[in-house]
Amino acid sequence: MKVGILALQGDITPHRRAVERLGHHPELVRYPQQLDIIDALIMPGGESTTIQKLLDRWEMVEPIRRRAGEGMPIWGTCAGAILLARSIRGSDQPTLGLMDTQVERNAYGRQVDSFEAEVTVEGMEGSMRAVFIRAPIITHVGPSVRVLATHEGAIVAAAEGHLLATTFHPELADDDRLLQTFLDSPEGLWTGKAAAS
Ligand code: GLN
Repeated sequence: MKVGILALQGDITPHRRAVERLGHHPELVRYPQQLDIIDALIMPGGESTTIQKLLDRWEMVEPIRRRAGEGMPIWGTCAGAILLARSIRGSDQPTLGLMDTQVERNAYGRQVDSFEAEVTVEGMEGSMRAVFIRAPIITHVGPSVRVLATHEGAIVAAAEGHLLATTFHPELADDDRLLQTFLDSPEGLWTGKAAAS
């Protein structure tokens, strides 16, 4: 399995190390052609406005949408979760619009720009240490989206079929369980569970 990491801007190296820890050689995706040789894509944290501009400049928006439409699993962390969202509250900043979610950027304000918390993610044993850095929250989800984790009432992880969004950074906590689950479940781990419940 070839795991791609969108490598235009942001928190690329920690994801690369995490993918390598699980025994894969990631493809650092900078050109649209690379999207055709990967089986899954991770979109890292960073600055969502910058990443979106670079996606436009390198003409990667439509190829990513096409691969998502073909069922390629995509995981967006933090800025990546913003890019996955259908809309951004109070903003007309463009996104890829792949998940039926609305997000609010920098939702924790300046006083808690960055913090860590223990969160419980559906399907994971115990809790995970979650690192939030100028994080968004997911303010609204459509009926096909499954909420996987909340923190103090706000949605911080959600899945829709093969698409996964987390507003925090598991790759910075050296906890590879969510990555392992994502890679093990190309159709979306939570899809089957949702259907069963
Ligand atoms: N605040 C950033 C944004 O709005 C996201 C921060 C992050 O990815 N850690 O794009």
